Amino acid sequence: MKCEICKVGETYSSFANVTLERGKSIIIKQVPAEICSNCGEYYLNEETTDSVLKKAEAVMQNKVELEVIQFAA
Ligand SMILES: [Zn+2]
Repeated sequence: MKCEICKVGETYSSFANVTLERGKSIIIKQVPAEICSNCGEYYLNEETTDSVLKKAEAVMQNKVELEVIQFAA
C-alpha cells in the first residue's frame, strides 16, 4: 500500500520495533508490520495492534522503567 505519512513510499512486509510510552517505556521487538520503503513509518494491522497492547499491559505492573519484549515470545 502507499504510505499515508510521506505519500511517496510503498510499504513492504517486514518487522518493526514498536515503542509505547505508558508512564514507562515498553519496546516490543520483531512486530510483523508493513513498513514504508521511503520514510520508514510502520503500519500494524488490527490483530497485531491488539496483541501489542495486550503484551504491553502484561508487563505494565513490572517495576522497571524500560521493558523490552519480543513480539513472538
Ligand atoms: Zn512513508
